[in-house]
Amino acid sequence: MEETDKLERAVSWLREADGLLVTAGAGMGVDSGLPDFRGAEGFWRAYPALKNHRLTFQDMANPRTLTRYPKLGWGFYGHRLQLYRGTRPHAGFQILRRWAEGMRHGAAVFTSNVDGQFQKAGFADERVAECHGSIHVLQCSEVCSDAIWSAESFQPVVDAAACELVNDVPVCPHCGALARPNILMFGDYDWIALRTEQQETRLNAWLSAVHRVVIVELGAGKAIPTVRQFSEYAGPRVIRINPREPGIALHRGVGIAGSALETLERLNGMLNAS
Ligand SMILES: [Zn+2]
Repeated sequence: MEETDKLERAVSWLREADGLLVTAGAGMGVDSGLPDFRGAEGFWRAYPALKNHRLTFQDMANPRTLTRYPKLGWGFYGHRLQLYRGTRPHAGFQILRRWAEGMRHGAAVFTSNVDGQFQKAGFADERVAECHGSIHVLQCSEVCSDAIWSAESFQPVVDAAACELVNDVPVCPHCGALARPNILMFGDYDWIALRTEQQETRLNAWLSAVHRVVIVELGAGKAIPTVRQFSEYAGPRVIRINPREPGIALHRGVGIAGSALETLERLNGMLNAS
């Protein structure tokens, strides 16, 4: 299928839809200036101090690293927490919101990003499902209970050159053990999934009420295919936007090669022009 035909098909789906499901992976954040952790070199560009320790993203996003080296682990997560708090979501988020305003059921979100950028851009919290959890929520590393709580009162001070937390690590208010982000890590058997499960239950209820859902998938790679699979499960009108891996079977949707913001602006221009 020609590129123009794909874009036109996408625009007609957006026009006919009564609900917009946005599915997003790490590529969505790149246009807001957030780092892409693709490959060890990409990760070390964002965290040069960890290169000296030869620690990769997989090593850092590991509950055992965090409990063994709390200052280093929280140097990494504390830095990200501050980064996401200070980030302004790019204009593509507002394009998506405007599209959804014209649809009867509005928008819902399924994302593997833990950065909270959709809520920050004004998407209703009860319409966002974060399949890998959120960095803005904490839990006990010892899982003394299934309690989770907001990270809001924790203000990390990080020595970026050493990737180390300077101030005190956050602790569990119930037992005093080290607190950790309520994020699904690698080889993680301690993640408390309750919040994500509730979000996904609400999302499925929303999906069953929508008759002609259109799915706009942004920057979701094949490495961890959860988001791509969810798009196709919710399909078949999937608009897959991805600079490197836009492939999708013809009966499941259209794949457009491009970055998130640029492609959303292009589609928006076409929608407004006709
Ligand atoms: Zn505890």
